[in-house]
Amino acid sequence: MLYCRECIMPSTRPEQVFEDGICDACRSARRKHGEIDWAARRTEFESVLQRYRGDGSWYDCIIPVSGGKDSCYQAITLKETYGMNPLCVTFTPCELTEVGRYNLDFLREQGFDLIQVSHNRKSYRELMKIGFTKLGDCCWPEHIGIFTAPIRVAVQYGVPLVIWGENSQFEYGGPASRRDNPYLDRSWLEEFQMCGHRISDVAHDGVNLNDIKTFLYPSDEEIKRVGVTGVFLGHYEKWDSLRNLQLCESRGWQRNPDGPIEGAHNDYENLDCKWIGGLHDYMKFIKFGYGRATDQLCIEIRAGRMTRSEAIAALAATDEGKVPWKYVPDFLSRVGLNEQEFTATLDSFTNKAIFERDRSTGKLQKDAQGNLVRKFFPADVA
Ligand SMILES: [Zn+2]
Repeated sequence: MLYCRECIMPSTRPEQVFEDGICDACRSARRKHGEIDWAARRTEFESVLQRYRGDGSWYDCIIPVSGGKDSCYQAITLKETYGMNPLCVTFTPCELTEVGRYNLDFLREQGFDLIQVSHNRKSYRELMKIGFTKLGDCCWPEHIGIFTAPIRVAVQYGVPLVIWGENSQFEYGGPASRRDNPYLDRSWLEEFQMCGHRISDVAHDGVNLNDIKTFLYPSDEEIKRVGVTGVFLGHYEKWDSLRNLQLCESRGWQRNPDGPIEGAHNDYENLDCKWIGGLHDYMKFIKFGYGRATDQLCIEIRAGRMTRSEAIAALAATDEGKVPWKYVPDFLSRVGLNEQEFTATLDSFTNKAIFERDRSTGKLQKDAQGNLVRKFFPADVA
């Protein structure tokens, strides 16, 4: 397990490509701050918007929102800077938090119409259980819903342009062919968000497809009829999470009132879902050896706001990699599992090569709280 020489991302991150010891997200960051002609990209964006901009009598773009700082920034910018008439669409996460609800209301207070697509809880529970036990991702249905619901609304409301936020492959690493791609479509969704499990596969797990309509992507014919196209705002303007945060906060948007969520470094990301902050990120940690705090600190390094050594010290001060017990009882009662089943499932997804094991029994070493012992931690490089 290697760590990038510029940030603290390990080589175990899926889709990550290292060159000369540097991850592709750090190489993207150099291009972002040095090579890309952002003025030209903005002109390009204006010409895209010009094709769709209406007279205000109907919506002319869809903004998928979670109520987070980035999606609130997107909506405000598209309306106030670019003169568009956005319709915001949110997919209700597994379990919406209070601050998540507050920030969705904040968006409405800012003058945006919001469509909230909410799954039925009965089959959502089943999907969450499949995600947790079979795919190692408790928020698997949420990832699908987030990317499907806005497309469904675009078709239903006849609003072809869907504007997403950052291009995650460019900002955080991924295949080169996707890094400079301004578009998000069904193939992107299937490649990056579905853990290799299509929503139709759950029929084999005993879920009735008629019960999960909110998760079904519109047909190619429907998409073609409306001409739905999705673009990343982050392809056309230089993405800056701190700028997004500052704009939203200056208008009343709220951070997490309890400080950083479990396993995180900051208190202003992934606030909307009870499970995505703690358990989802913990499952990433046991599979790949890093969690949300690492992601957040890498962003700080690449933005030039923190040195690598400062990030390593800050990472050590977080609770990344600790079992996120806070909402576990809620989660287990929701999906109908007990604590033994919970622990056995986590163990089955743990990458045994990156955590300490007992020499004689080969069992994973754990402390009294059930926390694993990491074998690897980023260190200063000469
Ligand atoms: Zn890096």
